[in-house]
Amino acid sequence: MSDKDSNRPNTEQAEEAVRVLLAWMGEDPERKGLRRTPARVLKSYNDWFAGYDEDPAAILGSSFPDAEGYREQVTLLDIDFESHCEHHIAPFIGKAHVAYMPDQRVVGVSKLVRVVNAFAKRLQVQEKLTEQIAACIDEVLQPRGVAVVLEARHQCMTTRGVYKKNTNMITSAMRGCFETDDKVRTEFLTKINSGGR
Ligand SMILES: [Zn+2]
Repeated sequence: MSDKDSNRPNTEQAEEAVRVLLAWMGEDPERKGLRRTPARVLKSYNDWFAGYDEDPAAILGSSFPDAEGYREQVTLLDIDFESHCEHHIAPFIGKAHVAYMPDQRVVGVSKLVRVVNAFAKRLQVQEKLTEQIAACIDEVLQPRGVAVVLEARHQCMTTRGVYKKNTNMITSAMRGCFETDDKVRTEFLTKINSGGR
């Protein structure tokens, strides 16, 4: 988060908002242990919400045409991600599995990880996050198909509310041949279920 956007509150205003929340929960924002907390919270937000300053399409933009004609599935399993739900600003943490069937273009694997992160490090709902990752890869790489599966635990559900500690939420987006071709989709889902082994 930077101060460059004039619609955004500045650092002092944001720190004051944290002090208000501290006072609201019954704390004394001026006590020694809390004096630097507002600044630390903003610093954490800079990490957790760094995705707003990233352009995921631009990350994928430097794809390279052809890879010696490679046409089979490219699959990345177990990409750790952390995001925050837009309903509670509570973390949801899990793994992303991403696959695509290249047509003309392939991309370095680290780029796919960065795309997941760029969308995850925003306020999100898991369904939307899943769709955004798939849509971005689909639009920029124009592959024959793309598939995204996310599994995550939502702290708004595990530490509060219904207190379901072990509940995983799983979402998926299938496009192109992953949607239309059972064999392609099954190959991807089998890899996930076998943990990539
Ligand atoms: Zn939530």
